[in-house]
Amino acid sequence: MMLNPMAKDNPTILVVEDEAAIREMLNFSLGRAGFDVHEAADARQAQDMINQQVPDLVLLDWMLPGTSGVDLAQKIRHNTRTRELPIILLTARGEEENKIKGLEAGADDYVTKPFSTQELIARIRAVLRRTVSPGSEEIIKVGDLSLDTVSHRVIVNETPVELGPTEFRLLHFFMSHAERVFSRSQLLDQVWGNNVYIEERTVDVHIRRLRRALEAYNCDKYIQTVRGAGYRFSEQV
Ligand code: CA
Repeated sequence: MMLNPMAKDNPTILVVEDEAAIREMLNFSLGRAGFDVHEAADARQAQDMINQQVPDLVLLDWMLPGTSGVDLAQKIRHNTRTRELPIILLTARGEEENKIKGLEAGADDYVTKPFSTQELIARIRAVLRRTVSPGSEEIIKVGDLSLDTVSHRVIVNETPVELGPTEFRLLHFFMSHAERVFSRSQLLDQVWGNNVYIEERTVDVHIRRLRRALEAYNCDKYIQTVRGAGYRFSEQV
């Protein structure tokens, strides 16, 4: 049987950008990098397209006429059909405070304009890798830690680590989203669920417990406090 190489599914990227020149440039360069690119000029058109077919990733401009990129990101997150849909926000230079707002709205990453297409493509691939792997992997390994998502066990050098259920979920989330900064409210949404009302301090309490549990194995260093932003799980210490 002949296999058509074109039949292989390319990841679909929905580019939401009102500036036609940027949209065309993105369509061209992402297309050449092997992505199927769909274009929307505003949030409403993007929403219509997502309703018809959920893409693999949304590249979303912050400044859009009508509904802003952040509002659309929030809508995407609050719809059960699209809550896992990866979003990369495009922000303008100098909008530093927007980055945190964007991440809190549910974006997976952001890229500041003007950007190099090479960098953008690398970020897209990184986000796609992250979103594909967590659910499908049974054992997640970062540094000296292995986490078994099926038996709910955490092992360091063949020694099981005792963790409470919340600490386990927190560590699971961190290990499947390593190298990224999360604010306390994002961690609440992701680990506790966004229908629960819990104070942000609760996150600090559980982070402290998790660190204490990992301390004996010298793995508490992976959980890093990022001043003014939140926490990051990283092997690079
Ligand atoms: Ca724009």
